[in-house]
Amino acid sequence: MPVDPQRTVAELKELRELTGDENGAQRVAWTETWERAREWLRGKVAPTGARESIDAAGNQWFTLDGASERAVLIGGHIDSVPNGGWLDGALNVMAGVEVLRRVAADGVPPVTVRLVNWADEEGARFGRSLFGSSAAAGSMSDQDELRQLTDRDEVPLPDALAAHGVDLDKALEARSELASAAAYLELHIEQGPVLESMDLSLGVVQGTFGVERHRITWRGQAAHAGSTPMDKRRDALAGAAKLALEIREIARRGGSGAVCTSGGVVCRPGIVTSVVETAEQLLDQRHLDADRLAAMLAEAKASSERFAAEEDIAVEWEKIWSIEPILFDDTLLGFCEEAINEIVGTSHRLPSGPLHDAAEVARAGVPTVMMFVQSLRGLSHTKLEDTREEHLEQSVAALDVLTSKTIDWLAGGGQ
Ligand SMILES: [Zn+2]
Repeated sequence: MPVDPQRTVAELKELRELTGDENGAQRVAWTETWERAREWLRGKVAPTGARESIDAAGNQWFTLDGASERAVLIGGHIDSVPNGGWLDGALNVMAGVEVLRRVAADGVPPVTVRLVNWADEEGARFGRSLFGSSAAAGSMSDQDELRQLTDRDEVPLPDALAAHGVDLDKALEARSELASAAAYLELHIEQGPVLESMDLSLGVVQGTFGVERHRITWRGQAAHAGSTPMDKRRDALAGAAKLALEIREIARRGGSGAVCTSGGVVCRPGIVTSVVETAEQLLDQRHLDADRLAAMLAEAKASSERFAAEEDIAVEWEKIWSIEPILFDDTLLGFCEEAINEIVGTSHRLPSGPLHDAAEVARAGVPTVMMFVQSLRGLSHTKLEDTREEHLEQSVAALDVLTSKTIDWLAGGGQ
């Protein structure tokens, strides 16, 4: 029995009807609407005979036992941001359901196949993303901070979790779920404009960007705007302004889709009659290659020293946050490319700007790959989020081919 991708599109619309309103999807994790979506999903999967279990972090698993315990995982998240789109996370889950149906109809698979609906990928209610997958990956280390989090109505996170049967102190026990995992596959909408601009429906995701975030403080001298000649000024904003333009060149030289963003500059005294004394600038740099990311950071620092000298001001750097790039598995990247070529004839490799559940699973050492399907206008986290139905259907078919290739590889002793 082949997959029926049109059914996936119809089911996504059904889910939208059930859990959305005129402002978009409302499946915020740890709410009644989210629980209703999980209940609906349970009903969809039941006819396949896959066993359902909820782990210690609230992740919802559906397991089709195979001849071997080693498991291929297909992942997604049915939770959404408030007023979200109909595809983010839900496409992955529903495409996974369709693949489960096909695998189940083919008889007992040589390896176990599991669909996981991760709990609270979005972090929309409490501001902590990737809750379920980070617990399963064992990378969750902020329990003390999580205990302090409250939502807008002052409901503490542990209480909201408890209402859905999850004990925060035991969430890390979800780690045992990945013990048998031999491969992890995730289909996701791109949420950016790259595939659309290349007129491609599907892409192979190489990994997720490494990120360097810094606060840069420029110090000059406040001086009267009327009485200070132009050549006598020590203008802190001039350094920030030069750097804001220079990072465009730094990103261009970094190549491979590198991005640099100066997301804000706060000036003091910040009045119309004074030269700027201090300018506090925020910088975010991202690259898929750790060495190139380090080089982009070094270039930005060197440029800032040069601009400080030119403007006779001082500059100081302070790290806010950083994360290493996470690269997906070479063999699975190859399978993903083959699957896309089989379905649509052309494929393209691209990095992911946002983090995803797949990054957590990859960090835990499970061979992982993601597939992107084109997003119209690059929009996501809004009800305007959309993808052509033809492309959605292609993505389901390609995920199915990728799953088959991965099963065959594992059954043949791969990994
Ligand atoms: Zn998502």
